[in-house]
Amino acid sequence: MDADCIFCKIANRSIPAPLVFESPDVVAFQDINPQAPHHILIIPREHHSDVGALARSGQEALLGKILSAATQLAAQRGLDASGYRLVTNTGKDGGQTVRHLHFHLLGGRPLGWPPG
Ligand code: AMP
Ligand code: ZN
Repeated sequence: MDADCIFCKIANRSIPAPLVFESPDVVAFQDINPQAPHHILIIPREHHSDVGALARSGQEALLGKILSAATQLAAQRGLDASGYRLVTNTGKDGGQTVRHLHFHLLGGRPLGWPPG
């Protein structure tokens, strides 16, 4: 828990945000500023600033749990057929604004590539 981290507060329910997925290690919720018809953030409950920090801490197994949650959510929303994007922005050039590891699940419209 990082006392100043908004996603830690969402995970521990001190900030109310409807959770669309909950397990002992992972939660997911709607992005507050959705960029597609489906835009969900999947996060570990434990605070890790980004994917590299998580890997360095030896918690790589958490990544499998996050991917499992993300693929379940995509399937529930019917995105398997249409397709979707799963992405984790990392650091300044990656466009990361919240320093608690999160994966964006985006779908429901064609997504451009390469990203800007
Ligand atoms: P990133 O820029 O990859 O770090 O993504 C951070 C994401 O968190 C952005 O898409 C924001 O819209 C989203 N976000 C920030 N604060 C909240 C919040 N309180 N609840 C839900 N999503 C949030
Ligand atoms: Zn945090």
